[in-house]
Amino acid sequence: MTSLVRLTRQQAELRERARNFVDNELLPHEEAAERAGGRLPADVVDGIMKAAVRARLNGGRHAPGHGGQGWSAVDYVVAHEQLGRNTNGLWWWVPDAYNVLSAGTPEQIDRYLRPALRGEGWLSYAVTEEHAGSDPSGIATTARPDGDGWVLDGEKWFVTSGDVAAAHIVVAIAQGHGPTLFIVDAGTEGLSFADDPPFTHTFPHGHPTLRLDGVRIGPGAVLGGLGAADDIQRAWFVEERLGIAAHCVGAMSRLLEEAVAWATTRVQGGVPIIEHQGVAFPLADSAADAAAARLLVYEVAELTDSGADPKIVHAKASLAKLFASEAAGRCADRAVQTFGGRGYMRTTPAERFLRELRVDRIWEGTSEIQRLIIARSMTRRGVPSVIA
Ligand SMILES: Cc1cc2nc3c(=O)[nH]c(=O)nc-3n(C[C@H](O)[C@H](O)[C@H](O)COP(=O)(O)OP(=O)(O)OC[C@H]3O[C@@H](n4cnc5c(N)ncnc54)[C@H](O)[C@@H]3O)c2cc1C
Repeated sequence: MTSLVRLTRQQAELRERARNFVDNELLPHEEAAERAGGRLPADVVDGIMKAAVRARLNGGRHAPGHGGQGWSAVDYVVAHEQLGRNTNGLWWWVPDAYNVLSAGTPEQIDRYLRPALRGEGWLSYAVTEEHAGSDPSGIATTARPDGDGWVLDGEKWFVTSGDVAAAHIVVAIAQGHGPTLFIVDAGTEGLSFADDPPFTHTFPHGHPTLRLDGVRIGPGAVLGGLGAADDIQRAWFVEERLGIAAHCVGAMSRLLEEAVAWATTRVQGGVPIIEHQGVAFPLADSAADAAAARLLVYEVAELTDSGADPKIVHAKASLAKLFASEAAGRCADRAVQTFGGRGYMRTTPAERFLRELRVDRIWEGTSEIQRLIIARSMTRRGVPSVIA
């Protein structure tokens, strides 16, 4: 297959490995996951997780010394492009952990990171609050010193995997130090769930509201140093945004494959419907969207690997996330239309993508926030900093 992006032999092999994993281990479970509200039987989940480890897809960007694969940014998007081809968030079962954990102490790495990468425990990351979403300066969760440890008070919203996590990474304002990451073990006294709302997509885990009422934690719970949250999280956002953009590229590929296959076999008016321009042209637009998004994603990954100025990479990652997530939404909508009434059935991947891709324009910074970052970069560093 010719490609818009040049891959090394190892990267081409990784792409095939990830693609086979998605085709053989994830896609067969999509419909069952949809019918079960995302909650697959434990033995099926166990099988998926073990297959992901066998396929060496777990802990992609983490260091091999910590149990990860040591992927470059390009390796990461190669794999995540394939993982984006499934619906129902089944890729979430691939064991991994937030990259902020690599800033942990050797004890934290042994206790939290290594088991997570082996698939032996989930972690959540709790930043957002009722009054602090796009603007994290409004974070009101506090950490006050208490003996040699800390006491946390506050409430965190939309805590993905919070319902199953063995521990939560919580951003709190540490008295005298500012925003700080703390690791709070599940079950610590004072932790509770205020709500576990249903969401648009069908996902393996919930996104509950986590309350912290006088939660006492020891000195070893600080992650990456007091007041270090903003610096540590910046790298996290870039990686997450690139990952979302790569997923969206994979989703667009699958949507196109499904829609083109359907449009070439479905006959109406005596011809395959793709022979009607009204059907063919939107699919051509989707191909343009997918190809352009793909180039952007790989460019940002290559810039990351080349050690480019982190500010430029930050703005370009926003550009990739903005374009790829908006484009994927358009592609899903066009694919639903191609399938007609079948496109409105939850058993059709296009229908599921239409709902599931919506969040990619919201989490890890909304499209509006990506636009702010892009506009700021053009103002401060010039237009070429974004488009050249
Ligand atoms: C399914 C799901 C899972 C999530 N998982 C997590 C998680 O695991 N951990 C976590 O911490 N958070 C998580 N989030 C939260 C997510 O990151 C936030 O929802 C997101 O950052 C937006 O914040 P908000 O919802 O408070 O919206 P708001 O910030 O209130 O924004 C509302 C609207 O106003 C716009 N807006 C806000 N400020 C500006 C501005 N300056 N200029 C222009 N427009 C603006 C936004 O773009 C948006 O359209 C999750 C959210 C969802 C839906």
